[in-house]
Amino acid sequence: MGGSFKIGRAFGIEIKVHWTFFLLLAFFAFLGYRDSGDPLTALVTAAIIVALFFCVLLHEFGHSLVAQRLGIEVPDITLLPIGGLARLKTLPEKPWDEVKIAIAGPLVNVVLAPIFFGLALLLGANLLNPANILEGAGSLGEVLVYLGYINVILAVFNLIPAFPMDGGRVLRGLLATRFGPVRATEISSGVGQFFAIAFFLIGLVLGNFILLLIAVFIFFGASGETQIVRQRELDFPVVDEDGRLAGIITRKEILSAAHSPDRYTSVRDLMKTDVPTISPDADLFTDGYRILQESGLRALPVVDDGELVGMLTIDDVGQASLLRDLRKQQY
Ligand SMILES: [Zn+2]
Repeated sequence: MGGSFKIGRAFGIEIKVHWTFFLLLAFFAFLGYRDSGDPLTALVTAAIIVALFFCVLLHEFGHSLVAQRLGIEVPDITLLPIGGLARLKTLPEKPWDEVKIAIAGPLVNVVLAPIFFGLALLLGANLLNPANILEGAGSLGEVLVYLGYINVILAVFNLIPAFPMDGGRVLRGLLATRFGPVRATEISSGVGQFFAIAFFLIGLVLGNFILLLIAVFIFFGASGETQIVRQRELDFPVVDEDGRLAGIITRKEILSAAHSPDRYTSVRDLMKTDVPTISPDADLFTDGYRILQESGLRALPVVDDGELVGMLTIDDVGQASLLRDLRKQQY
């Protein structure tokens, strides 16, 4: 992510902090100073925020270490003011792997919360009396109670089934074992967007800016992920020995074959033969886009003199038209 500083490395994963995180620290230090007039209180308040984000970092390591064990590379973890972000090189293919990776983060907080509460009790703190960090830090015991509650909130909040939050990923993984990845993502994105709208309204009513930010994050995260998963499912061209296009197979055909395996025995029985094609010299926007729209296909075989030379996808045309529009705006 742009604007991030590398601050360390553990288990082969780079730890980065986005620059806006320092704004957050400065903001809380300012609040600490404003209410106490004491620079030391400002430092303590900032230190508590650092401790809070250390819990967020451990949460992200929960996801990352399980992902690594399942063979997925994790290049870096970035801390942002709204939370952490572990970047996985690839998305888990197996639904159960996604469930394991998603649940590992909140589990870290489930383990941390009683540790903080226990330490606070040892220091003689009252568990019903967490530090109010906006009004000076209070005793160390009260700070530990506060961090205990922070971990409870991190666990509960992340497990809300609002895709792409952890709970939403757990939901998608569980649904995918029954309905397949695309349908599972569509359902959990829908649930996620419902939560996003609810959070947005609650955020408006309470005037809570963080909740509004999270709502926007969930809303766009959910729709973005649906597109990534859809792109994975392309239409496949079928060619004969001479490289000539014989037909194509789409997801629909594969699904119908899966439902009645006795009706189809070979690819030939299954494939669509009357498919539109396009020449490499055809115009991308007038011809390519129109034929894709009319046929309802997601990928169009590009045929040169009867031979299959490539596939033109809806996404290719979409990206090209986006770039074209950008150029128009620039010049
Ligand atoms: Zn998480």
